[in-house]
This record gives sequence, structure tokens and C-alpha cells, in this order.
Amino acid sequence: MDGLTNIKTIKNLLEKFGFSFSKQLGQNFLINEGVCPKMAELSGCKDIGVIEIGPGFGVLTSELCKKAKKVVSIEIDERLKPVLEYTLAEEKNVEIIFGDAMKIDLKRMIAEKFPDMPVVICANLPYYITSPILMKLLESELPINSITVMVQKEAATRLCAKCGTRSCGAVTAAVSFYSRAQKLFDVSRGSFMPAPNVDSSVIKLDLTKREKVDVNNKKFMFKLIRAGFNQRRKTLTNSINSGLAIDKQKIALALEQIGLKPTARAEELTLKQFADLSDILEK
Ligand code: SAM
Repeated sequence: MDGLTNIKTIKNLLEKFGFSFSKQLGQNFLINEGVCPKMAELSGCKDIGVIEIGPGFGVLTSELCKKAKKVVSIEIDERLKPVLEYTLAEEKNVEIIFGDAMKIDLKRMIAEKFPDMPVVICANLPYYITSPILMKLLESELPINSITVMVQKEAATRLCAKCGTRSCGAVTAAVSFYSRAQKLFDVSRGSFMPAPNVDSSVIKLDLTKREKVDVNNKKFMFKLIRAGFNQRRKTLTNSINSGLAIDKQKIALALEQIGLKPTARAEELTLKQFADLSDILEK
């Protein structure tokens, strides 16, 4: 259905289906008509498969349907079932799965729903679970080409930051390890109904163009990274010691081996340095 960014159309749908927005589920729906076609275009979904998380009333879903070969969209809120049946009635290449995107086995889902085509992810993510969802998508090492998502502007800065800079966080390290992140464009808070308190940005994580960093034990490296950023104001010697109970002297020595002072903080390390630190401390 076209016109889903029209406020009058949205109000009619709210009334027709007795629907009310859930703040808890991050339901801020897009009312800026330029955003969804641009997101769909830049996601690279043309003639291939695309997974969406959180269709809402189906505004981005409709645009994805115009370009992609097949769209599978995951929505947690079952109250949206009759609404989506109505708004997507004319779309022949879409399947809506009702469930929690955090709990669904996405690897299995991709094998079942897209056995014969490349897949990308494109979504206006619910902000309350941006980081956990992205971590899940990246860590599950799904057979996908890219992830194009709308996130809070501040989160976008962190996600697209470089390791070794002040804007870096634990999730930045995961993003850098698995992909090449790029901010595509900003979206003002007034582009949503209801309007959130912050502006947003669309980012793209290209999983085919990552800088390759070798590490013996990925799991252990990410434990170190999480421990380091959990207490980012502390030195790594202290944060890793308190988070993972590794001897302080051993940590200080390892930092020295990779050319850093024992007073170094997590935000000073490049991804390669985290990988080297992990290889030394794992022994
Ligand atoms: N795509 C629509 C748009 O752009 O207007 C809605 C986006 S809204 C920011 C987020 C959507 O994600 C809502 O429809 C919400 O119900 C859904 N959602 C929230 N948590 C979810 C979860 N864990 N799994 C799947 N969908 C979820």
C-alpha cells in the first residue's frame, strides 16, 4: 500500500484497527516519504532476498517489496497482524513472521526461506535493542551481504567509529571485526510518529568488505573487549583484572609486549592490538 507515511492514512489505520503505539516496543513509525525508498535503494536488495526487523505498518516493507525478489519481515507485535494483512495485501513477495527477532534462529530461517539467493538486512530498528540485535546479527555470522539500519544518531557515531578513538565502544569493535561501517544519511526526529527525543541516522555495515584481523580465540577477544569497555575510565590493567580475574602483572606485561603502557585504556587500542593482546593473554 502506498501513502503509508501520510499522517491521515496512519490515523485512519490507528482508528480502523484500534491500534495504539507501544513505547516499550520502540514503535516510532516513519512519516517522511523520502526515507524508505532511499533506504531500500541503498540496501542493495534489488532482485535478491531481504530480511526486515520490525515492519510496523509496513512502510519500509512496501518499498522493499518493490525492489527485492523476496522479503521476510519479523515483527514481535501480534496486534499488527490484521494491519499488515491489510496494508501489504497487494504484495506477492512478502512473508511476515511474528516473533522476537532476538530469539529466532536466523541462520536456519535464511536456509529455509532463501535457499537460492543472496540476502541483505534492511530495517528501522527498535532503539531499545539496537546493540543486542546488531551483536546477534554479526556474531551469528549469517550468510548475508550487508545490514542497512536506522539507529539513533548517537549510536550511529559509535557504530561507525574507528577502534582506537574516543567514540569507540565494545559494539564498535564487533562492527569493525565483522564489517565495514558507513553512515549513509541523517533523519530528523520529526520524521517519525510519535516523534522520539533524538535524531536518527541510517548506517550500512558491509560484511563483504571488512578489514581482516587474525585472532586465535574470537570469543576470548570479545570477552577482553567487553571487560575493557565495561569500565572504560579505568586502565585496561584494572578493568580486565576486575572483569576476568587475570593477574594485573600479566596484563601489564602483555600490554608492554604490544607496545602499550600498563596505563592504556580500552579506547586507545586498535582492533589488531586487541587481537594481539588476546593471543598473549589466552596462553
Ligand atoms: N518499520 C516501521 C517504520 O519504519 O515505520 C516500524 C519501525 S519501529 C521503529 C520498530 C518496529 O520493531 C515496531 O514495529 C516494533 O513492534 C518492532 N519490534 C520491536 N521489538 C522487536 C523484536 N524484538 N523483534 C521484532 N520486532 C520488534
